[in-house]
Amino acid sequence: MLGGGFKPDLELPAVFREEATMYGFYGRILRIDLSEKSYEIKDVEEKIYDRYLGGKGLASHLLFELNPAGVDPLHPDNCLIFATGPVTGSKVWGSCRYGVFTKSPQTGFYSESYSGGKVPEAIDATGYDAIVLHGESSEPVVVDIRPDDVFFHEAGDLWGKETYETEKEAVKRFGQKDKGYHRVGAVVIGPAAENLVRFSVIKNDLWRCAGRTGVGTVLGAKKVKAVVFQGDRKRSLADEGAVGTLVKRFAAISKEDPGVNAYKTMGTSQLVKVLNSANAFPTRYWSKGKYEKWESISSDALHSRCDVTPNACLRCFMACGRMTTVKEGRHAGLKLEGPEYETIYAFGGLCEIDSIEEIIYLNDICDRLGIDTITAGNLCAFTIEASKRGKIDYTIDYGEVDAIAGLLGQIAQREGIGDVLAEGIKHAAREWDLEDLAVHVKGMEPAGYDPRVLKGMGLAYATSDRGACHLRATFYKPELTGMIAPDQIEGKAELFIDFEDRLTIFDTFVFCRFYRDLYTWDVLSEILQAVTGIQNNEDDLRKRAADISTLIRRFNLREGLTPEDDWLPKRLFQKMEKTGHVIRDEELEYMRKDYYRLRGWNELGIPD
Ligand code: SF4
Repeated sequence: MLGGGFKPDLELPAVFREEATMYGFYGRILRIDLSEKSYEIKDVEEKIYDRYLGGKGLASHLLFELNPAGVDPLHPDNCLIFATGPVTGSKVWGSCRYGVFTKSPQTGFYSESYSGGKVPEAIDATGYDAIVLHGESSEPVVVDIRPDDVFFHEAGDLWGKETYETEKEAVKRFGQKDKGYHRVGAVVIGPAAENLVRFSVIKNDLWRCAGRTGVGTVLGAKKVKAVVFQGDRKRSLADEGAVGTLVKRFAAISKEDPGVNAYKTMGTSQLVKVLNSANAFPTRYWSKGKYEKWESISSDALHSRCDVTPNACLRCFMACGRMTTVKEGRHAGLKLEGPEYETIYAFGGLCEIDSIEEIIYLNDICDRLGIDTITAGNLCAFTIEASKRGKIDYTIDYGEVDAIAGLLGQIAQREGIGDVLAEGIKHAAREWDLEDLAVHVKGMEPAGYDPRVLKGMGLAYATSDRGACHLRATFYKPELTGMIAPDQIEGKAELFIDFEDRLTIFDTFVFCRFYRDLYTWDVLSEILQAVTGIQNNEDDLRKRAADISTLIRRFNLREGLTPEDDWLPKRLFQKMEKTGHVIRDEELEYMRKDYYRLRGWNELGIPD
């Protein structure tokens, strides 16, 4: 063991206090200095919870306060923060989730990423609302966090190992379930993060991951191979009876809910058919919106060609996860949880891989190496275009699975052109003189919803704090289900903010996105009161969400954000092949202007 012990001499801003009395919060955070192998436990002022709640709100506040302005994301001073929320560890459905917050090595701006599984309850059982890692270990380390102690274990022999093996080994070596810790789990990085590939993930429960913005890369820079969380702590809830009643009510609702049943029977792969039908399934590196062979990578293909059983995070009746085993062919016996829609779009649509088994194979490679499948698929398709245009001395074409698999390995190990791609799309586009072709916002690639059809997704991608993000508002949902016409521009920003704000509140609890149709504003108020005792109506919650958005906006402005960063790439203003769908810059400008105004920011997107 490298060390462990209390060292209360780190300077923290004056937001911390000695005592906590609120329900639903532990009232304390843990701050770990990896350089010194020391830690301190600090209480948090009640007014911070009152203003920002927990999860994303608390973590964003800490990041703003603790990160030096303009810090290099890979510098030891860039904090990486794990946070759970007031519902984590409770029986409330959709509550087993954690968030990770840092400054992104992929975008250079605010970063958040979330994951489910079972490990979030182990993180929570350590008894902190947030855990801040800063500094940098001089050698590979496993950080072992318990309710009142932190240990630093040597991890030289784990360095270089794939994610699955690392997670199993970290829990086996350092888990103390037999010593009374009910919850034990680990989050890990793979070889890509060790090599500082800028879009590396943090994995847990083998196949779950905080996948976007390169949060794993920051752990890699800190030489943290794994974090083991173990404990027996539980949050005190304000009204256990009300929580129980609410849990029963939604269990009953779930039985008849068509959305719940769709996720349970088809998982997220159901979207392959939906997006192809809408001509919004990004194909052949963002040139088309429909893949002719979509049926071979659809939900039906997955469920008929593989052995699939629904799989759920703890506290979930929706079970959107798919435990999948390939039945036939060269990958027979390959097992993983997935593939999710976004992975299918990235390799199936963008790279035109027409076999669900081969997509599973590429998914498995990304999981083992610890890289984001959305960015990976985008970069592989971008490389194919670069190759076809003679911009690189490298041969690769659409549909070539083995060449793509090889490229993923080169990226993770930074070999050959993999070294260029490991720096991300912005860098590769500059190096290869293909900036007009590269599809990204702030350095992060979009998910599988083409904004030339779903124009609200254009606003979402352009203005998201973390780059081209589909999850801050999941605005494909209202655009695909008739709540608002996909090509409507007027009034779009208003509905968009309604979704974005409600899901910001989701992230303070930290709730799974797929409960968005069940947990309306009123239900969120009800849950908040039952769990914390805080009485907030819809207007109060909207105000909290807006405060969090503005706080993060200020963070990004401090890091150099300009209105040009809130914009779509050139490629997405060009007509889609076959259907001719397009988004015009005046349409995006209209929505963005509206968005800034409704947020209370000036025409440059700056809060008053
Ligand atoms: S819906 Fe899916 S991601 Fe969400 S909690 Fe359930 S299994 Fe996990």
